[in-house]
Amino acid sequence: MNSQYYIDLANKYSAHNYHPLDVVIERGKGVWVYDVDGKKYLDCLAAYSAVNQGHGHPAIMAAAVAQMERIPLTSRAFRNDQMGPFLQELCELTGYEMALPMNTGAEAVETAVKAARKWGYKVKKVARDQAEIIVCDGNFHGRTTTIVGFSSEAQYREDFGPFTPGFISVPYGDAAALEAAITPNTVAFLFEPIQGEGGVVLPPDGFLQAAHAICQRHNVLFVADEIQTGLGRTGKLFACDHEGVRPDMVIIGKALGGGFYPVSAVLSDQPVLGLFRPGDHGSTFGGNPLGAAVARAALKVLVDEELIGRSAELGEYFKGRLQRIESPHIKEVRGRGLFIGVELQVPARHFCEALRDRGMLCKETHEKVIRFAPPLVITKEEIDWAMSQIEPVLMAA
Ligand SMILES: *Cc1c(COP(=O)(O)O)cnc(C)c1O
Repeated sequence: MNSQYYIDLANKYSAHNYHPLDVVIERGKGVWVYDVDGKKYLDCLAAYSAVNQGHGHPAIMAAAVAQMERIPLTSRAFRNDQMGPFLQELCELTGYEMALPMNTGAEAVETAVKAARKWGYKVKKVARDQAEIIVCDGNFHGRTTTIVGFSSEAQYREDFGPFTPGFISVPYGDAAALEAAITPNTVAFLFEPIQGEGGVVLPPDGFLQAAHAICQRHNVLFVADEIQTGLGRTGKLFACDHEGVRPDMVIIGKALGGGFYPVSAVLSDQPVLGLFRPGDHGSTFGGNPLGAAVARAALKVLVDEELIGRSAELGEYFKGRLQRIESPHIKEVRGRGLFIGVELQVPARHFCEALRDRGMLCKETHEKVIRFAPPLVITKEEIDWAMSQIEPVLMAA
């Protein structure tokens, strides 16, 4: 069967809620994926950073298969022998006291919103149902109705209201605007340390420190959504580490599942996560033994293969080479670690299509930005090969 057959099937039976590049992937290994016609591509998106460890990593695969053979699912009605060790290892790696495991990123964001509100009522003593959370223009935190309700992207909201109240949006990277928006009812500031879907947008230097200090001064939780930026993507464990700030809560997902399975979590300390009582929150699949075993292996690969340092080093190299391209189409090359955005003067889609035809998979974000975020296991030679494809495509008229 060729690609067109699968494209037609998906177009016929799937809701058209995505506009994918027309490449039908059949298998993958490391940074490479193969389509149904046998063509090979360098994956420069890594499933939005869910495949930081590379496709089909053998150690994560072995852990997944072994756990599937033992027991993949128990529900949280009973205990299992994977969740405790997983959360211990996660907390030891990240320096938090507790974690709450979920499945997708959006669920973990919802969990953080509930935790922040609960903290607001129980600890900060905000009056019932008055809690406010400050978010940023251009944010992306997922697709649930509560989350899209505080998106500034018109299409994400259109036709999906009414929305959950209690969210206030301020310009991204503007510490003065953040401080001005804080009221006695503010319980949290929820932000991405680099806006991924927003187009790999970095806040001004010093913003994270300034925002953190403001939140501490006003007794507001500083809550980082590191679902895309966390676990090594930007060349540090967390993107907040670039400014040495420790959030009160960190939300992670994507790479926590090692490219195999959805695993997300909220990290915090006893004063926040300790407030949950049985029945307050839950998920049938959250903390399941398969997900926990996969995440343990995914974290171990991150550490054992020093993927965070690789991201820092190879990201600098890749970004430097991209910055040296002298193309009239390029407006700016920016990023941290292997999280790089090339902003063009013109729509990026046809450049992504031209790269696909040359064996490289990238996806435009925010129309004019090409995001380069390959699995962190990429080699310098593979980046050199990628550059030999990117240069001619970006130089062409
Ligand atoms: C991907 C992403 C989410 C949502 O994660 P899902 O697993 O798709 O629900 C939330 N926040 C950020 C910053 C993301 O990149």
